[in-house]
Amino acid sequence: MVCMAEEIHKRHSIIKVLTIVQWVLPIILFFMATGFEMGEHIIYEHNSISPAFISEMAIFGVVGPVSVWLVLRWVRDNQRQLEIANAQIYEMNFQLELRVAERTAELREKNQALEDANKELQALDDLKSDFVSLVSHELRAPLTNINGGIELIARHKDKLPERKQAVLDILRDESARLTHLVKNILDVSLLETGKLEPIAGPIALQPFLRTLINSRIHTNKQHTIAVHVPSNLPAAWADEVHLADVIINLVDNAIKYSPNGGNITVSAEQSGDDIIIAVHDTGVGIPTYAQKHLFKQFYRANNNNNREVYGHGLGLYFCRKLIEAQRGKIWVESTGVPGEGSTFFVSVPVIYELEDESILDPFN
Ligand code: ADP
Repeated sequence: MVCMAEEIHKRHSIIKVLTIVQWVLPIILFFMATGFEMGEHIIYEHNSISPAFISEMAIFGVVGPVSVWLVLRWVRDNQRQLEIANAQIYEMNFQLELRVAERTAELREKNQALEDANKELQALDDLKSDFVSLVSHELRAPLTNINGGIELIARHKDKLPERKQAVLDILRDESARLTHLVKNILDVSLLETGKLEPIAGPIALQPFLRTLINSRIHTNKQHTIAVHVPSNLPAAWADEVHLADVIINLVDNAIKYSPNGGNITVSAEQSGDDIIIAVHDTGVGIPTYAQKHLFKQFYRANNNNNREVYGHGLGLYFCRKLIEAQRGKIWVESTGVPGEGSTFFVSVPVIYELEDESILDPFN
């Protein structure tokens, strides 16, 4: 900016000089021509005003200075136009710099506001996580005692009158639900705060899935649950505890959302560098519009009046978080037609055993 101002000042001075020169130079030329011509014709040649004198005076004394005057005027006009253009550029530049400065200040303010809001949100999020984990911990300890007490009484269940046995069953179920909910909330809060890091290792899926499913077959008489895993399937690379949580969640959902019983199949197969585990049921199915929301926190689809089915919309969110933490994927397929059921898929990396039986970690 300072340079531009200096430039304008310089050009202004040039114009002043040009204006002076424009007038002074022709006058000097006129006097020089007059002096020279008078010297030549009147003093040396002793001629009075001859035609030669007049014509030379007309050329050197009038045409010459006038031409010089015109040329200098043209140069001065151009210089003036240049000065005007420069002044306009200077003005535009100045306005531009002003606007840039204003916008920068606005952006700085907005940025600051965003940063403050972000900090507030972060603080709220931390508070929420702390609160959730505090509440969950505070609930877990008494729940463990309640569950222990219920199990103690349940040992002598057959000695109780029938009505009290029924009450005991309700107590047991409700306490199990509450324990499950508290565990889910706690796990979600641990996952969100990065305190539930997966510890991956090779998992032979055939025995792993059979053992898991057996626990559900024993407690469920209404559904048939089958496991199909090829015996030559390579091992999967995953956190055993987390993967078990996910499969149990999916199988429990398959049971929950097949209220009239039905067949549930848990299968696994290799697809490229992944192992895909599928949990298929013949239950109420999931409408297409709901499928993309299923894995969000607290989302419950309105399939077949399932509000009557107990739940909190946390299970699938938790499964997604657990699977994504081990670089896997989870998704669902369903026609949405009741009776045609749904299939939930989970993919985790495959792990090949090398010849020396060492293991190649796909995460590294
Ligand atoms: P919850 O079962 O506690 O509601 P989830 O996160 O496990 O929570 O499931 C979210 C929603 O997805 C359920 O409310 C239900 O509508 C739907 N859903 C999950 N699994 C199935 C399934 N196997 N069949 C039909 N709907 C399902």
